[in-house]
Amino acid sequence: MKVLVIGSGAREHALCRSLSLDPGVTALHCAPGNAGTAEVAEPHTVDALDGAAVAALATRLGADLVVVGPEAPLVAGVADAVREAGIPCFGPSKEAAQLEGSKAFAKDVMAAAGVPTARSYVCTNAAEADEALDAFGAPYVVKDDGLAAGKGVVVTDDLEAARAHAAACERVVIEEFLDGPEVSLFAITDGTTVVPLTPAQDFKRALDGDEGPNTGGMGAYSPLPWADPKLVDEVMATVLQPTVDELRRRGTPFSGLLYAGLAITSRGVRVIEFNARFGDPETQVVLARLQTPLAGVLLHAANGTLADEPPLNWRDDAAVTVVVASYNYPETPRTGDPIEGLDEVAAQDAPHAYVLHAGTKRDGDAVVSAGGRVLSVTATGEDLSQARERAYAAVDRIRLDGSQHRTDIAAKAAAAAS
Ligand code: AMP
Repeated sequence: MKVLVIGSGAREHALCRSLSLDPGVTALHCAPGNAGTAEVAEPHTVDALDGAAVAALATRLGADLVVVGPEAPLVAGVADAVREAGIPCFGPSKEAAQLEGSKAFAKDVMAAAGVPTARSYVCTNAAEADEALDAFGAPYVVKDDGLAAGKGVVVTDDLEAARAHAAACERVVIEEFLDGPEVSLFAITDGTTVVPLTPAQDFKRALDGDEGPNTGGMGAYSPLPWADPKLVDEVMATVLQPTVDELRRRGTPFSGLLYAGLAITSRGVRVIEFNARFGDPETQVVLARLQTPLAGVLLHAANGTLADEPPLNWRDDAAVTVVVASYNYPETPRTGDPIEGLDEVAAQDAPHAYVLHAGTKRDGDAVVSAGGRVLSVTATGEDLSQARERAYAAVDRIRLDGSQHRTDIAAKAAAAAS
């Protein structure tokens, strides 16, 4: 099978890594990719938002499967363009991707499907926003309706900050605050059959102790030793299957990766958000634990034959990912700094720990930073403590001027499990 992966983050490097280990994959391509994907997949230049260009590249390469990583190309209809060219594509249509592209659309689908989520109002002016903020009280949750790479959400006790964020967006969703730990549960679906993956937890805030601004994600771990073993079955029955069924009923079936961001509240499981693609950085830990070869599962989803897929196999190992970010991420990340120590990790920490690239590019012989989140240092171990130790040992070998990372990824869960 010839596979083309679209995207250039650590998620795409993780996808490429897993696909490169799948004996069924005879050729692997990635566009536009980064310095890390180029080590396992042949790199190509493409505008990932241009459906016609992606379809033309896939046709030229004779791809049997295209895997679209990020949300922006999906919302732009890239998966539709690839399918129109007759090539199976893992990723939802433009219309189904609205589940991520519009928070108001997602709320409407959840209401129709009876999926438990935060009560909310959609507001388009300051007076409506004030009324909604007043109705729910602090802590205030204000979400930009459109795509914002995980950064369009403000959760604050400060009424003025909440009002200011609402005023800065054209359309906002204001909703009740959900307490309790968060879980990310991914499911692969062909629009009818739903196959859940293993739950993970990510760390959205920039600083230790969940302080600082929201980011795209600073780290993740899996499994969740503290979670109810029945959680996956419950979320399948109350969230994932009803959502997939509702989108099919509407004539806009969702095929690809359905990501449920959940809060385990004192009143039960609630959906915080849906995403229409693999989450970054949770994918790094979920795929580290997946034993089943990935390409066949993704192809079954793309072809509508997921019911034929035998149950997925998971390693007993735990996995931890620590994101190394640029100086001044997420505000105004600095790029162009050389990254050193990658060879040392490869020589001393592999195979248990490895570096997945996000914002990196080659500059002659050097690898330099090219984005906010630069690397996802990932490690596996017998338990979370060992995976954590290995991940941080590898992080310590990496030298990137001014870089930042959280030191508490999976710390609480590892301590509670031991
Ligand atoms: P979202 O883009 O909707 O996932 O929101 C980003 C982050 O904001 C989530 O992962 C949560 O940490 C936080 N958040 C979003 N909605 C709520 C809510 N209703 N209550 C508490 N925290 C929330």
